[in-house]
Amino acid sequence: MIQCPNCAKSVPDWSKECQFCQADVKGVARPRKSDFQRGTQIEKAAWIRPALYVAAGYSILGGLQNIGSGTPMLGGKPSPGTPTALFVGTGLVMMAVGCLSALVGVGLLTKVEIARRAAIPVSGLRILTSGLILVGSLLAGGVSSSGTIFNILDIVTAGLLVYLVRETD
Ligand SMILES: [Zn+2]
Repeated sequence: MIQCPNCAKSVPDWSKECQFCQADVKGVARPRKSDFQRGTQIEKAAWIRPALYVAAGYSILGGLQNIGSGTPMLGGKPSPGTPTALFVGTGLVMMAVGCLSALVGVGLLTKVEIARRAAIPVSGLRILTSGLILVGSLLAGGVSSSGTIFNILDIVTAGLLVYLVRETD
């Protein structure tokens, strides 16, 4: 909105004349869009950096958790009905994705440029593996609530990390 110089009422930006007193308002300065856009960018940057570091920190914790739960699966015994190869394979994938995820987290916190580029594909891997494990455990009926919550949290934070890395580019 702009202000009429004659009657001081608010009239729309696009007006050529005041709708109240018909005064010519063509010469009145319009609010600039770029000022508004600059303002929102500054606001965004203020919360997005800390959020990126939180997501990077979780990427390390989640990665270590994945290594921790994948390791015993290599020598462990699957629940009846689960093929051993699938069980051991899942353990290996969890360890590998866990390592990558932890490395990306450390790289983001220490501002290593390659970690930013690796963050998107590694987050994709996290979403894929956690999603498959989630579906697999639901189908097998062997859902442990802590494991399920961890998998959902991992998918959400991996997605968030992709968003934050793109926003801070
Ligand atoms: Zn007016």
